[in-house]
Amino acid sequence: MNIERIYTFLGLIMGLLLWSIWLLQNNVSLETSSINYNDVVSETFSISFVLMMLIINIRLRSASSNSLGLFIGLCCLLIGHTHDLLDEFIDIQPTWISLVLENITNNLGVIIVTIAILKWSNRYKKQLRSLQRQKVELTKVSNTDSLSKLYNRHFLNTEFITQIKYQLSPIQKLSLVMIDLDRFKEVNDNYGHLEGDKLIVHMANVIRAEIREGDYAFRYGGEEFLVVLNAEMEIANRVAERIRYRYQHSRYEINGKQIQKSTSIGVVEYQPKDKFDVAVDLADKALYQAKKLGRNQVVCTSIYASPPDFTENLNGGARDELVV
Ligand code: GH3
Ligand code: MG
Ligand code: MG
Repeated sequence: MNIERIYTFLGLIMGLLLWSIWLLQNNVSLETSSINYNDVVSETFSISFVLMMLIINIRLRSASSNSLGLFIGLCCLLIGHTHDLLDEFIDIQPTWISLVLENITNNLGVIIVTIAILKWSNRYKKQLRSLQRQKVELTKVSNTDSLSKLYNRHFLNTEFITQIKYQLSPIQKLSLVMIDLDRFKEVNDNYGHLEGDKLIVHMANVIRAEIREGDYAFRYGGEEFLVVLNAEMEIANRVAERIRYRYQHSRYEINGKQIQKSTSIGVVEYQPKDKFDVAVDLADKALYQAKKLGRNQVVCTSIYASPPDFTENLNGGARDELVV
């Protein structure tokens, strides 16, 4: 309700009070007068209320048929209540018009207003449902990377980190898998950025195929991906190995020419109670180690190894076969 409507409402209440004071000043008392003071007050209040609704209705200026229905209904109520109020002071002769006014307008008004409000609320319910659907759709779009269709960094930073902190047990074992495509720049340089893009999509598909429900995959940067696995280090290592192997060995053609690319992966085990940034930093370091050791391999470590131990290359270095 905006301030103008509150003023309108207060103005009408003031009118009602002034009207009551006027009645009292003119010595209209309950005992002596034939005027039913209670009826006068309640009719005045009804008229004030109906007037307020009419003003709001007109101010909203909605061109829908519901709005017109409400307007007609409120006019009926206004006429009916005004007739009832006048009836207290003037002895209205029973003509057919006064009979119609007395018996029909108020009831008709209530029926029309009720129908209009029901239709209105139904329409707003539909609009609300459609807005909720749009909101879900928009949230999905804003959380998704447009190229790979994986989650994006925005979702990771705004929602995901807090989500896992509060939804999972603080000591549950999780693993971060940081993936970087090897010598990706060569693809861009040799075949163009569009082909590079397709390779990013290809890796996204490989990741999607290898993770399970409860795991989350993000496009972390240009050709970098981050997977949060609901698993301890040994299992995370196996998943990372499968991703590495599948990416390297899936048949991939550019311009009809078969190409084979590899990927380096850093894995770190951590728990929701740990600082996410620290775990990511460590996964980055493990990835750097994998690059340094010759690329095309997975290097694992744990946030609890102090100082960080990158010797946990569980598979023993770069290799072409799948170690699971
Ligand atoms: P390394 O094995 O050391 O990872 O070498 P690299 O060539 O993969 O790494 P580098 O960081 O030198 O190159 C990454 C390239 O990825 C550079 C950048 O132009 C490219 N890139 C980043 N985002 C996109 C993208 O969305 N599409 C394409 N096609 N290329 C991208
Ligand atoms: Mg990179
Ligand atoms: Mg790279």
